[in-house]
Amino acid sequence: MAGTGVARSDLVKAVFSERQLAHAPEFFVAGGRKLPNPEQPARAERLLARVQAMGVPVIEPASLGAGPRLAVHDRQYLDFLEHAYGDWQRAFAAGGEVMPSMRPLENPGAYPRSIVGRAGWHMADLACPIGPDTWHAACASAATAATAADLVAGGEGAVYALCRPPGHHAHGGRAGGFCYLNNTAIAAQRLKVLGPRIAVLDIDVHHGNGTQAIFYRRRDVFTVSVHADPADYYPFFWGHGHEQGAGEGEGYNLNIPLPVGSGDDPWLDAVTGAVAAIAAFDPAGLVVALGLDAYEGDPLAGGTVTTAGFGRIAGLIAGLGKPTAIVQEGGYLCDGLAGNLERFLSGFAVAQGTPKTL
Ligand SMILES: [Zn+2]
Repeated sequence: MAGTGVARSDLVKAVFSERQLAHAPEFFVAGGRKLPNPEQPARAERLLARVQAMGVPVIEPASLGAGPRLAVHDRQYLDFLEHAYGDWQRAFAAGGEVMPSMRPLENPGAYPRSIVGRAGWHMADLACPIGPDTWHAACASAATAATAADLVAGGEGAVYALCRPPGHHAHGGRAGGFCYLNNTAIAAQRLKVLGPRIAVLDIDVHHGNGTQAIFYRRRDVFTVSVHADPADYYPFFWGHGHEQGAGEGEGYNLNIPLPVGSGDDPWLDAVTGAVAAIAAFDPAGLVVALGLDAYEGDPLAGGTVTTAGFGRIAGLIAGLGKPTAIVQEGGYLCDGLAGNLERFLSGFAVAQGTPKTL
């Protein structure tokens, strides 16, 4: 078998669709420069190759239609996302990817007709370009998450959704940070069939601002995120400890920011705290938003978690003993990417105590 030599798991099934690979964003803007977009199809190809090498069964997502995405996103936003690239090409001769050039920051008076205005309305930043295949890939990614959740709801202990593009920065009506449809939120909503309370634990190095926003006024979905401090790191405006939910949801959002560059010990302490809070909430099911970009070798350089650290984090989370959908979020091209996934999935399976095949 490949990789670290950890026992392969027959606990975790994986869901994946090749249609997700068609989305190939060309660039994003960072440091005032047009740079190659790090959210590339090769990420998913590497992760897929590793789960296959581990012997994990990989299944296609079910045909679920628009229902899962409509459960957490605005119809107006979904219409924009579906038609944006075509509208953009009609508006601009030799147009490129859809990118916003302005944003309605203060009390916009009306929803614009122009695709330029709608791009500003629905796109948070310059890291979520919409190309010719973005919509179909994002829908396949959402279906992957929904199918994983449905398998968990149907009795599987844990299922890994190999989602790409990622989702946790997508709000109900807005793309951002490489994300278009919030796969984690979609999975959490699907898991509601298991019981009245569901929890989300986001361990991506970036705060899960879209997921937080979608559930911010709800007490039935407890959202917890461990991430690099937004005072110094994307998404900058959300992810602080004082953001605890609002209205009926007050007290049902927990942020645990860590200094940029934190390694295994602070991450393990934070996840230990997150797991204790989730245990007290006693959810019927759990969604893990599995970003692997807190890794010490990740090019986005927000954390210094080791490969072994991901295994230990997985063990802590699996100790909750909850039916769990594991949804892939960030984690960018570097030598350790696939090994980190293997260690996480293996660590999860070991901690759940399921028989393994060596
Ligand atoms: Zn991330």
